[in-house]
Amino acid sequence: MVQDLERAGIRSGHVLAAMGSVPREAFVPAAVRADAYGDHALPIGHGQTISQPYVVARMLEALDLQGDERVLDVGTGSGYVAALLGELAEDVVSIERVPELAATASTVLQALGSANVRVVVGDGSRGWLEAAPYDAIMVAAAGPEVPASLLAQLAPGGRLVMPVGDDSAQDLLLLHRTDDGALERRCLGLVRFVPLVGSEGWTGPN
Ligand code: SAM
Repeated sequence: MVQDLERAGIRSGHVLAAMGSVPREAFVPAAVRADAYGDHALPIGHGQTISQPYVVARMLEALDLQGDERVLDVGTGSGYVAALLGELAEDVVSIERVPELAATASTVLQALGSANVRVVVGDGSRGWLEAAPYDAIMVAAAGPEVPASLLAQLAPGGRLVMPVGDDSAQDLLLLHRTDDGALERRCLGLVRFVPLVGSEGWTGPN
């Protein structure tokens, strides 16, 4: 998988090393385990997915983590990205709206020894104020726009990556808050994620 990611253009040695060390197979249901290292999303139950490795790598690379950051991961899902963020940053809060997914992810993360990752249950479209501000925010579900609460919880110098758009396709946006507080915005390409369901996302069941 790591060689495929390199061939696809992922350059960050930190990201490639993390993706080589976190076992994706531990985060997927037994029924799809044989396919754990293919470059595609896989079902994890509750209508949700573990994201495609290339897209995960692209998002992690865009965050440009140096190892000393506090990170918010919105949409824990299987916990795979949370584990990767735990390898790349100092402290990770991962928030999931489906309690059953959060519980399973927590169990796997504990078993793998991801001691710097905390999983919480809640509406991540509003961020997680208790541990804010964050040096990086990674959102793994697509919203109509970047939630104001997430922008408010992004520290000066911080980066946020998130898909924005409707359910057919979304722009993968990278926002960088400069040290003087301004926001720079760049589109990294088109992606397709499950919806961000919440008070600052889409409303209704997903
Ligand atoms: N990062 C995950 C992984 O490594 O498996 C994949 C995430 S999956 C594509 C998106 C997740 O976002 C789903 O588990 C979904 O329940 C969750 N989600 C959607 N809206 C949310 C919200 N408002 N707050 C927290 N989680 C949310």
